[in-house]
Amino acid sequence: MQMRPCWVEIRTHALEDNFRFLQSLAASEVELLAVVKADSYGHSLDLCAPAVVRAGARWIGVTSVEEGVAARGLCPAARIMVMAGVFPGQGEAVVEHGLTADIWEPAQIDNLDSAARAAGLRPGSLPVHLEIDTGMSRQGASLEDLAPLLARFGPQSPLKLEGIMTHLYAADESNGVATQTQLAELQLALARVEAAGLYPDWLSVGSSPMVIGAMDGAIANLAARHGMKAMLRPGLALYGITTRFSPPFESGEPPSLAAARSELQPVLTWKSAVMSVRNVPSGAVVGYNGTFVATEPMRLALVAAGYADGLDRSLGNRFSLLVRGQRAPLVGRISMDHAMLDVTEIPGVEAGDEVVILGTQGSETITAYEHADATGTIPWEVFTRIAARVRRIAV
Ligand SMILES: *Cc1c(COP(=O)(O)O)cnc(C)c1O
Repeated sequence: MQMRPCWVEIRTHALEDNFRFLQSLAASEVELLAVVKADSYGHSLDLCAPAVVRAGARWIGVTSVEEGVAARGLCPAARIMVMAGVFPGQGEAVVEHGLTADIWEPAQIDNLDSAARAAGLRPGSLPVHLEIDTGMSRQGASLEDLAPLLARFGPQSPLKLEGIMTHLYAADESNGVATQTQLAELQLALARVEAAGLYPDWLSVGSSPMVIGAMDGAIANLAARHGMKAMLRPGLALYGITTRFSPPFESGEPPSLAAARSELQPVLTWKSAVMSVRNVPSGAVVGYNGTFVATEPMRLALVAAGYADGLDRSLGNRFSLLVRGQRAPLVGRISMDHAMLDVTEIPGVEAGDEVVILGTQGSETITAYEHADATGTIPWEVFTRIAARVRRIAV
């Protein structure tokens, strides 16, 4: 059956190119874990996880065991990191599907330990990564809590401490002060890990800005000093969005940032279509509550996209979409399933015309940052709130 025309196109080749580009930016000894959490930032895990693996990713990162199980079905050979905790009753699935959990609570260790023993795993055979809270106060063990956790990795444990992980809360701040403080805390933690006689393979630190902002070398050095390999975890950059550092670099912008701006390609285009076009007289009320009243005879195009598709309702009367390669203002309130465009100035618009909500049409582009700025949010949320009913198609 022909579907309602509101869909997302995913350029999987652009995603592959982006991964390879980021790998080329990073120091050669740095491993890039491709973050595909939250249905690949709304881009579709089904389409994106196999694409990053094709491009060379050996590790992919998700944020639930459910996503990890789905990713395992798509990528049989990849290492799959569950980065946001394992919940009670999920240990069996971690073992069965060969997932790698990020842990920081004794209860998470209990859970995995008993699942691994129940499955008859040998000592040291279920790899986990221990997260350290180096300053974000979200996930991770504090330095004070470390000793009893490290004591859980004795010779009889089926768990293997394979990696140490931390998350940076201000990797996009150009002065780098918060990151330096966090890395100093991380070094203290690494000293305690070594003092406990544990030698994990991986040091996993940081997101897209660390790759684009040329901080990969610092992490690689820190890892090497402790006999570890560095792993960075880019997400947004994979999907073609260049980090906006704040404040912007006045001078001394890292060359990698300019390279990212020219090389990273947006992966997602969100499209819809004109359903019908009507002429309205001056004084006509447009949409719920008449927040727009025509001040002259106008031509309006009805578009098959509304807030139930993830088109933010606050964009009504404040944003434009692309039709026939031009920006057409959204007029009136956005409805659940519809939006209306003023196409008075755009000749020839007719039913069936393609509308671009996010992406490029002709020589015009609406970026994820434009959506984000207009609605007071960030590109991550713009992407992830595109509703599940909007089908994702590989192109
Ligand atoms: C989301 C996430 C990332 C990727 O962040 P980006 O800013 O999208 O690159 C990396 N690590 C962890 C733990 C995350 O949750």
